[in-house]
Amino acid sequence: MTKFFIRLPAVPSAPPLRLRGGVRAWWVPWVPWEALGWRHGRTRGWHRRSSAALGMGLRLPLRRSTSFTPDHPALMELPGPTALKMEANVLVMGADNVGKSALTVRFLTRRFIGEYGDMEFIYSHNLTVDGREILLHIWDVPNSQEQAEDGSSEEKRVQWADSFVLVYSICDRASFNILPLKIQFIKAAKEGQSQEKVPIVIVGNKRDLHHQRVVSSEEGRLLALSLDCGFYEVSAAEAYHGALMVFHGLAKLIPDTKLALKKGTGIRGIVKTMSAVFARKRTDSL
Ligand code: GDP
Ligand code: MG
Repeated sequence: MTKFFIRLPAVPSAPPLRLRGGVRAWWVPWVPWEALGWRHGRTRGWHRRSSAALGMGLRLPLRRSTSFTPDHPALMELPGPTALKMEANVLVMGADNVGKSALTVRFLTRRFIGEYGDMEFIYSHNLTVDGREILLHIWDVPNSQEQAEDGSSEEKRVQWADSFVLVYSICDRASFNILPLKIQFIKAAKEGQSQEKVPIVIVGNKRDLHHQRVVSSEEGRLLALSLDCGFYEVSAAEAYHGALMVFHGLAKLIPDTKLALKKGTGIRGIVKTMSAVFARKRTDSL
């Protein structure tokens, strides 16, 4: 078996290294995209890319099954069953510390690990909904990016996504108050392109912290009703079921036409969009 080493940044609270249930994860560190190799494996487990430029870190061996760069012909078509699967891109949005990563990781791994660091991931995960098997690509945006972002970065992510999970914390009024604007932004960007309703679910997280609750369930439900979105109140900390309901409910809202359009283009789409975002970021920091 060929082995190679990558560096992980010294983030003590990195998400779990082994994801279960056929989850594939792309780890996208905040460094120029072109400077890095793009690693992809089709075996069970997960995939990540990194850079020695990140410095200090653990050294972990990974199994190497396939390796390619964004321009590699392998990206032109996804061989095997993946090419036939229905796919959808999901963007997880919301204020800092509301539990976006906790909810996403809970859905993917059934686990709650407490601290998630602030790294950027696009995960791929199979979900069966109403007999349809859907490959979800889930982009969990890091907080630092939310803070530093300009409108165009957010717009690129919104363009990439087919469906949206908007998370707030029931203990954080401000995180709830920003949702209408975000949803209007999404609708303006997506509904201009097609007449179809954009699949959006609003999620009130941290339900276990009821003694610190400042946003009532009714307020959450009313907001969702007024904006024609799905609504869930969950605790990523306490249970897997709520996280499953969120992504399951979202997948049900995605029309077949959207899914069919994604056939065989998912990974390539991610690479392109992420490249664009990184390129922009790099330019900004010059
Ligand atoms: P993000 O910044 O939105 O991605 O939020 P994180 O997923 O990193 O979570 C922020 C903090 O909230 C972490 O300390 C989590 O452990 C905590 N957290 C996330 N979800 C829950 C929850 O359902 N209940 C409680 N009590 N804490 C949570
Ligand atoms: Mg996060």
